[in-house]
Amino acid sequence: MAAMTKKNLDQLKNMLDGWKNVFISDEEVEQLANEREEICEQCPHKKKFTCGLCGCPLKAKLRAVEAICPDGRWEK
Ligand code: SF4
Repeated sequence: MAAMTKKNLDQLKNMLDGWKNVFISDEEVEQLANEREEICEQCPHKKKFTCGLCGCPLKAKLRAVEAICPDGRWEK
């Protein structure tokens, strides 16, 4: 099996954080997710449930506080 790169590891950590925040809801995180979601909704890279650039499920990605938009569209 190929070694995990730092990018893979960061992505995995973000997904774990994002799914945790799906199941244990936090008001500040939900506000951040709503702001990000509005941007993703206008984005040509958005697929139905995922970001077409990184392949991450948006439900978790939007709630992963340290995650970044791969196209630099999010403010935070
Ligand atoms: S590129 Fe950025 S704005 Fe577009 S769907 Fe992915 S995360 Fe959202």
